Amino acid sequence: MIKVGVIGGGPAGIVASICLKEKLHHSAEVILFEKKKQIGKKILASGNGKCNLSNKNIPTNDTYNHHFASLLFKKYDNQALKDDFLRWGLLTKDDASSRTYPITESSKSVLEILMRKLKEYQVKIKLDTLVTSVNKLSNGLYEINTSTSFKPEIFDYVIFATGGASSPQLGSNGEGYQLLKALHVLVSDIKPGLVGLKTSKNDVLGLDGIRQKVRLTLQNKFGPVFTEEGEVQFKKDGISGIVVMNASSIIARSKEKLNLSLDLLPFRTQDELIQTLELLKDSSLKASLNELCYGILPMPLADKICKDLKQQKELTIGGIVNEIKNYSVNVIGNYGFETSQVTIGGVKLDEIDANFELKKLINTYVIGELLDVDGLCGGYNLHFAIASGVMVAHTIYEKEREKNENKK
Ligand SMILES: Cc1cc2nc3c(=O)[nH]c(=O)nc-3n(C[C@H](O)[C@H](O)[C@H](O)COP(=O)(O)OP(=O)(O)OC[C@H]3O[C@@H](n4cnc5c(N)ncnc54)[C@H](O)[C@@H]3O)c2cc1C
Repeated sequence: MIKVGVIGGGPAGIVASICLKEKLHHSAEVILFEKKKQIGKKILASGNGKCNLSNKNIPTNDTYNHHFASLLFKKYDNQALKDDFLRWGLLTKDDASSRTYPITESSKSVLEILMRKLKEYQVKIKLDTLVTSVNKLSNGLYEINTSTSFKPEIFDYVIFATGGASSPQLGSNGEGYQLLKALHVLVSDIKPGLVGLKTSKNDVLGLDGIRQKVRLTLQNKFGPVFTEEGEVQFKKDGISGIVVMNASSIIARSKEKLNLSLDLLPFRTQDELIQTLELLKDSSLKASLNELCYGILPMPLADKICKDLKQQKELTIGGIVNEIKNYSVNVIGNYGFETSQVTIGGVKLDEIDANFELKKLINTYVIGELLDVDGLCGGYNLHFAIASGVMVAHTIYEKEREKNENKK
């Protein structure tokens, strides 16, 4: 019997453990190490508790930002994920934006069915157990040292699935990088991704709590590099919302400065807005320009735009419409790993082969967010974690099958 140590009870490690037992049955003992008292904390938190598992556009839509992910997604696409979850007992559905959710719209059901499978297949789960080091032994096996045992445990295969450094309160705080660096595995610089952006205070002054449907654009000196519609939430020192989180990942990956602007009324053209305001002006002679804007923007936004233009002595209909269509926001940072949903950077992809095996350490694998792969909002990150777990189990199964055939 072979022994496989899986480090990290997130979606990547959980799915790898289930698939290993599904394929290898009693010929493998699988031990899942999790430092927290509970596995799958990020599954529970994901998609605002609804768990956006995948996206119908996988693999056709290039919303994830690495070629490596697109290769994996071609092998394990949205339908493959839905089929596996159905087999395990979970029905899924797609929403109008092609996002795949459990039909229950509850992340608890996802974790529940995964835990049921882990139990059914007798995966040994060691909770509250921090893996402190992994060492290669002279006989080619690996020892795993933990916070709960003085004696290391010995394994044929080790799967690193410890996640990135985002939302450390849910488990992963970057310790996985240290485990791998100790084994001379190269890790690229990490930054928070899918996170709110901090802005110059003046750009959001008086707007705290306002929500507005906008079109956000990021531009370099040649023109737009990213544009997306969605809701922006203004805070006292920055902006948030899905569209902002997506922009934060593009900014984090970019090697050049990108300027962020918001079209505050994307469903009306510049000309339409000018016409509307002119009509309103003609029909409400007593109203100020500022008051006219109350019918087209939330009052704090209308007040801010008009106050700024007044200070610049440019309070005209043309000036107002320009600001509405091109509200410039100076980004000065982000809210950090504490609230980010994904980590940009991680174990360099040169360190692994197409089957997630570390080139320097045979029979060890790195999967999920620990790798230098990240996607935008929409189910791409969970899909990547799950797909890499499925594929790694398949690789180990194939290795064992070949070994057994050679013995015959
Ligand atoms: C609030 C929030 C919402 C999100 N929503 C979505 C969504 O709707 N759709 C989507 O696609 N993505 C979403 N994501 C991103 C997604 O959850 C992650 O990309 C995904 O969970 C990564 O899976 P993973 O298994 O690689 O790592 P993780 O889920 O981070 O799991 C790693 C596990 O390893 C454990 N661990 C770490 N180090 C050790 C150690 N040394 N010893 C033992 N255990 C260790 C951790 O405690 C953790 O349980 C969200 C993320 C957050 C924070």
